[in-house]
Amino acid sequence: MKKQYMSYQESLDFLYTMEKTYPDLIDIIKIGTTYEGRDIVLAKISKNVETADEKPAMLYTGSVHAREWIGHELALKFIEYVAENQDVDPELEKSLGESTIYMVPCLNPDGYEYSRKHFSFWRKNRRVNHDGTIGVDLNRNFSIGFVKQKDTSSNVYGGEEPFSEAETRAIKEFVDAHENITIAFDYHSQGNVFFPAHKFMHEAELDGTDMNVLCANMNYEFAKVTGRKYGIHRGKPPAHLISGSGREYYYSKGIIAVVVEVGTKNIPDYMKSMSGSINENIPALKKAFGEVINYSAAAPVRVEEFTIDARDANSVTLVWKYEARDDIFFEIYRSSKDKDACNESTKVGVVGENTFRDTDLNSSTNYHYTIRAVNKNSGYKSPFAPIVKVRTALEDSEFFKLVFASKRGTGYVGQYTQEQNRAHFGLNSLFVGINKSRGICDAVVSFELDSLPENAIIKSARFYIYPMNRVAAKIEKFGEWNLSLLKEGSFTEVTDFEQIDNAEAKGVMGRAIQSSNLTQGIWNHWSFSKHECRLLQESLENGRATFRLDGPKTLPHGEDSQMMQFDIGYGQFGGGIHYRPILDIKYTLKNEKIKLKASTKSAIYADKKEDLLKSGFDASGNKVYSYLDFDLSQLPAADNTMITECALRISAKNTFKKRSDIRYYVELVDVDEVGSYEDIKNRDKIEYIGYEVAESDLVKNECQYFNFDTFSKSILDQLHQEGKTLKLVIKPTSALGAKNRILEWNSNVELVVNYIPKRRTALPPVDNLTIKKENKMIKLSWDGIDDDALNGYYVVRNTFHTPKHFMDGVKIYGGKDTWTYDNFASFDKEKHYAVFTYDDVPNFSEPATIKYNPLEKY
Ligand SMILES: [Zn+2]
Repeated sequence: MKKQYMSYQESLDFLYTMEKTYPDLIDIIKIGTTYEGRDIVLAKISKNVETADEKPAMLYTGSVHAREWIGHELALKFIEYVAENQDVDPELEKSLGESTIYMVPCLNPDGYEYSRKHFSFWRKNRRVNHDGTIGVDLNRNFSIGFVKQKDTSSNVYGGEEPFSEAETRAIKEFVDAHENITIAFDYHSQGNVFFPAHKFMHEAELDGTDMNVLCANMNYEFAKVTGRKYGIHRGKPPAHLISGSGREYYYSKGIIAVVVEVGTKNIPDYMKSMSGSINENIPALKKAFGEVINYSAAAPVRVEEFTIDARDANSVTLVWKYEARDDIFFEIYRSSKDKDACNESTKVGVVGENTFRDTDLNSSTNYHYTIRAVNKNSGYKSPFAPIVKVRTALEDSEFFKLVFASKRGTGYVGQYTQEQNRAHFGLNSLFVGINKSRGICDAVVSFELDSLPENAIIKSARFYIYPMNRVAAKIEKFGEWNLSLLKEGSFTEVTDFEQIDNAEAKGVMGRAIQSSNLTQGIWNHWSFSKHECRLLQESLENGRATFRLDGPKTLPHGEDSQMMQFDIGYGQFGGGIHYRPILDIKYTLKNEKIKLKASTKSAIYADKKEDLLKSGFDASGNKVYSYLDFDLSQLPAADNTMITECALRISAKNTFKKRSDIRYYVELVDVDEVGSYEDIKNRDKIEYIGYEVAESDLVKNECQYFNFDTFSKSILDQLHQEGKTLKLVIKPTSALGAKNRILEWNSNVELVVNYIPKRRTALPPVDNLTIKKENKMIKLSWDGIDDDALNGYYVVRNTFHTPKHFMDGVKIYGGKDTWTYDNFASFDKEKHYAVFTYDDVPNFSEPATIKYNPLEKY
């Protein structure tokens, strides 16, 4: 397979030939000379290439690690693609007109040639160290966080001092001299994952959304070609600074910098795997190239203070700040997936105002929003405002529970590790799949469900899990990962491999994840179908649900590992509660029913009133109205009751032999007094209840149901809360006119109300929220709430604005304590905290908020 990759000399020959063939587009320059005397070259690519340095640019570096051949190979193929399509593809043509590509196909030519000719898995360059060992890891030889190591023979030995190597010096000098670079990619292998730069502070950064979106939009292009998505991994603790890497150096210069780890092997089968990697990366790089201008000085500035103004069960209103300008509009993107693309596929709004209302959403669902400003004239777009996360409110009849995986019942069992399996529980991470040393490994994830009422009716459920590393899943497109709900009683010991692997499943939940979509660093979730919700519902009786996550159970010949690692948020190396598997359950309760008798029943004629219900036309053709009202105080207290459905049930007492065209309407009305005919004629009509009925309907059906629609129900709900009376009028209509035709209604008329017991309002927020520094961490404390309805406190951190609701930031704590540490917070960065109280619905209180100021003493 090695023969199919280009040698370094062939690469140089190719580049100079391209330069000669496309002199206006490509300029090959030498930026340095390696230890062994090879030229390090860079291709400048732009329309009218002599002006390349005047335009914003994308930097590409490949094969800084000798054995990671994809970077080199992809660069050459990309250059060829750009040259051949420069006048064909209008998107590419536009990008080449306004921006530049700087491409170093191979930043480590000595190492690359050594890897090609002698030792495939060589990583460093080929310099002779002072003690006679060979090679410096160039990606540890940049200055940011440089560490001088003793062991010169180490694969990650970073050299005597920063930029001691000709290769890193060459790229440093070029980057320092080219402030027009706005985006940088450093191509490596392997893992099918993006590693955007970050400041290793475990906190959101202003340009964090930009980098995630840049990668997510490239993922969108990959998926079109190969169905594959890469992971997008940044900011997950415990992250350590990679000492002296190129990415960190570029990022320190204000460049959006991303490492791309391509493929599942350093040197993959060219025709089977490498070609796919190249084919998917060419359109993705083209898209990324189109973004270069948007991070330059020519682009509009970023939107500020992008946040949630309001939300209900089906809509979210967003607001932001921006200087009022006629030439600017805003694009808003929404997704319910983590780290999703922000392009045409997710764009939900284009507005000129500084507000947007997103409608027709599902209740109790997590949505992510991003926004950018766009210049109408140039088409240039701003960087993204930091992502906003929001969960829509519950419908009146709904409740939800976020159940976190239990420590005792969550771990993995390995075929060859039976002795240690017990120790795998509640610790570190889940290994799922197969490798040579552990054999088959299955994960077990258990949830205690006793916090849900036994009569809960599950409406929807999602299982969330965080894939943290896929480096050991080494085979492209091999195997799938499945989630099953296990049958209670089909196993007795969750730590026993044989029992778990053979346990009977009640069902496989959702769709399998194919290996091509095992994306580390992006939350994965399974949405349960109605049938799967019913299976989960059965588990409520046992008070727990046990899931098995399993992967491939065989390895192809010659392969040693196809193993995926998921975080469980427990143990020293787990990411904490923020990374724990979650079961997100939306449920309702069985309706209770109450039938109210009318308190007032009158028939109102032009000239008289009767204590009966009658509707129709009198001898003079005047309308006769029925008036009836219901005392809503007969319903259970509004504080703990939600009306879910309501209907007026009524039947006719008499019928007529001869047909007429009279129809009867039920109106929800507001009248102060029903004394005179005038009072009723001047009634304030609020809404019709249900549909009108014809006389023929009265004959056919024994009784009529007039159903309240959503609006009428909301009025009813309001009247209930205010302790008022529901007032209805039954009105006759006739297009032909009628006389002497009066219908009497039976007196057993009733208002049929369905309701569920549910707390309506949130508890008050906590008092005296304070910050202290303790044990080298930020500690938050507050006064507890003394109320039986209290279920707990929920603490959220947001780096950019005061959290508006409980999903608006990173979860720090959920539980009944009146204090928490923020284990991963930096002392040096300003941030906002909010504490919410919640009950068992849960209704979340208004936030109690506090700002952490790095300059203040705590
Ligand atoms: Zn590498």
